[in-house]
Amino acid sequence: MTESTAGTPAASDFSSLPLSPAVLANLASLGYERMTPIQAASLPLALAGKDLICQAKTGSGKTAAFALPLLANLNPRRFAVQALVLCPTRELAEQVTQEIRRLARAEDNIKVLTLTGGATLRPQTASLAHGAHVVVGTPGRILDHLGRESLTLEALNTLVLDEADRMLDMGFAEDIAQVIQHAPKQRQTLLFSATYPEGVTQLARRYMREPQEVKLTERHATSKIRQRFYEVTESNRLHAVGLLLNHYRPVSTLAFCNTKQQCRDLVAVLQAEGIVALELHGDLDQRDRDQVLIQFANRSCSVLVATDVAARGLDIAQLEAVINVDITPDVEVHTHRVGRTGRGDEAGWAFSLASMEEMGRVGRIDEMQGRASEWHPLSELTPPPGAEPLHPPMVTLQIMGGRKEKIRPGDVLGALTKDLGFAAAQIGKINVNDFSTYVAVERGIADRACAKLNAGKVKGKSVRVRRL
Ligand code: AMP
Repeated sequence: MTESTAGTPAASDFSSLPLSPAVLANLASLGYERMTPIQAASLPLALAGKDLICQAKTGSGKTAAFALPLLANLNPRRFAVQALVLCPTRELAEQVTQEIRRLARAEDNIKVLTLTGGATLRPQTASLAHGAHVVVGTPGRILDHLGRESLTLEALNTLVLDEADRMLDMGFAEDIAQVIQHAPKQRQTLLFSATYPEGVTQLARRYMREPQEVKLTERHATSKIRQRFYEVTESNRLHAVGLLLNHYRPVSTLAFCNTKQQCRDLVAVLQAEGIVALELHGDLDQRDRDQVLIQFANRSCSVLVATDVAARGLDIAQLEAVINVDITPDVEVHTHRVGRTGRGDEAGWAFSLASMEEMGRVGRIDEMQGRASEWHPLSELTPPPGAEPLHPPMVTLQIMGGRKEKIRPGDVLGALTKDLGFAAAQIGKINVNDFSTYVAVERGIADRACAKLNAGKVKGKSVRVRRL
């Protein structure tokens, strides 16, 4: 294996890559001005057809680092699966699909399909029958389709293993091996992983051709995370969360509780204080879970409240703060919770609320981190003078109609800007699901945008719209 390091700043222009003018224009329209370090280090090699092992985490721009090469390898006129991305979780697969679709906009009609567990097989099989160029999915479900022959990989030329270490942690080693047996030997394989345990090295040895290794020497990750501890009692613990939010005013916060009951209680307390908080719990059906995650990711929900189990597999790029509402008895879980913030280049806050009974747990955390926790008094938590309760910057509007009605993000953006006269800058993320479309709009225009959309048309049809 050979190693290469990050490119110099001069080499970080996308225009230094062998990409078509249409692709470059699309990147510019997405606001991708220059390559992230992992992109600058990997794209020249990947676009030259090399197999790569990349050390990269969520938030580093890793999705584009494999999406651009796999798109470059595609023949759009050939209606067969030419690229496969294996991911550990359904949420990551959804995010990867969205990013590939955005990057594929330069080319007409590239079909990208998500195949993950948790959804019924039949609609997936029907979509496959219509032909797809790119498939993104979890190993178990991909294997199911291969077994039923609803999916074949005969035309595959790019295989991506995303978050390989996590896939192995989740017990997918055997499934991955079996999926690869169905793929042609002649192909490009790109492996992304945050860490390199033995299993990952083995995967690379077995299934890759002279892979090049791309590693970035990262700044110590925890230095970007500022941790503060506050002493609480059981009677003021939940109220303290509101104090933290109103004092520090993070746009997106993930609050961890040890129990489902605590999650429910916290959401009730925060909502009573006028803070937009939603609970992510295991009992939600898939559609409700999607709705919660969409609202959180598009910045129309300030706080996502979850247990560790419910938050498993969540990938959220922009997270200003994590709050440990309870101290977890497991030191590793604490580290994992705190590591959710301060991704990429952003700094992050990690707040922990601890009662006298939890001091033993804090002691173990200190021991593991090799330093004493930084304690602050609750009394310092005062909102800035004249501040209102924390409001998220955006509001989500739900349009009843989605992919099944052939609605695309551009149709919704067009209706709001060209037809209804709103500025593009007032519109946020647009998520199109099978039966619904969610569009984030600035809080100040939410009611007007909702009323105007209800009275107007999207893609030539009247639509029903509601404010979530
Ligand atoms: P990822 O690490 O792939 O999850 O990407 C993190 C976020 O960065 C995503 O929202 C991407 O759309 C965005 N992104 C990726 N590459 C670039 C780039 N070169 N410039 C600006 N944003 C980017």
